Amino acid sequence: TLQNKLNFSGGPGALPEKVLVQLSEEIINVPGPGLSILGISHRSEWFAEVIAELENNIRTLMGLSDAYHVLLLQGGATQQFSMVPMTLLRGQNSPAEYLHTGYWSGKAIPEARLEGPVRVIWSGSENNFNRLPSDDELCFSPDAPYIHYISNETVEGLQFQRILGRNDVPRICDMSSDFLSKPCEFERFSLIYAHAQKNIGPAGITVIVIRNDLIEHTTGNLPGFLDYKTQIKAHSNFNTPPVFAIYAVLLVSRWLINDIGGLENMAAINNRKAELLYRVIDESDGFYRGRAAADRSLMNVVFKLSSAELEAGFLSRAQAAGFSGLAGHRAIGGLRASIYNAVTLEAVEELAGFMDEFRRRSK
Ligand code: PMP
Repeated sequence: TLQNKLNFSGGPGALPEKVLVQLSEEIINVPGPGLSILGISHRSEWFAEVIAELENNIRTLMGLSDAYHVLLLQGGATQQFSMVPMTLLRGQNSPAEYLHTGYWSGKAIPEARLEGPVRVIWSGSENNFNRLPSDDELCFSPDAPYIHYISNETVEGLQFQRILGRNDVPRICDMSSDFLSKPCEFERFSLIYAHAQKNIGPAGITVIVIRNDLIEHTTGNLPGFLDYKTQIKAHSNFNTPPVFAIYAVLLVSRWLINDIGGLENMAAINNRKAELLYRVIDESDGFYRGRAAADRSLMNVVFKLSSAELEAGFLSRAQAAGFSGLAGHRAIGGLRASIYNAVTLEAVEELAGFMDEFRRRSK
């Protein structure tokens, strides 16, 4: 590989080498404009084409009809925690319904409460967020302005393998940490958001996919920057967008379409990667302890060892052996291997080998 270490970071994470090579050349000169990618105007014709192609690639990958707008905004997924309720919850009497499935949904809920009534219809806090709810634990109201959940809890390593909610209430989903990692019936959602820095690019840009009818009748007096309608009219170019980050996401979208061959193929690779690591954990006689009791994530493999000392030893050996980013999230500690789209099967095989070896040596 071109880097000194294999990147298992929770995000910003690994990017395809092919994309990195092209970007490194284009830091100096983008053929066509003949300028550095870091210094191309967001009002250039070239950039308008970048936005158009990226929107189109996202539509293609997700199989979206014209009923959806594709937006590229700054502010991260965190800004969407606020923009969603600012747009859809202000002035409402019936509560929006939120699922509290882990660290990140725990961040989204208080932001929504600032804008209007919220009902948490399920919380995993009592079981320490070690699983997700089953259908019979969930009762959705037909009167909610929307239902919000997170498809993959990045910190705890929990992932839904089904779509929640009811068809007569808008579904809104934070897909930041499993976006474009597998096929999904995306059109069953009214709004999906995902920041780039896990599966599709560097930090600085968030993809929002939003269905026409969700915002047709909203009238909130919002600042232009925080108003989906303004951003849609401006084609994601209301103020100066991060040209570099958007271009990097465009290159990743081309890689997903042309090199990987779409989301089915991506999912097949991602499944194999996760299987390899969970097998090492499951066959380790309790040496490696997976965090999730059920609903294990295919993106974030979260585990621990029997003691903090052993974990520190694991991390320093891993670092020396060329594996980076394996420390757990600062909120919960432990260990986490994030295996986003651009982490190769070969890299995961190497990590699995290292983990086996570490266990044998620790006996
Ligand atoms: N949602 C999820 C699922 C996340 O994993 C993260 C960050 N890792 C966030 C939201 C917050 O994203 P940002 O830092 O882009 O605001």
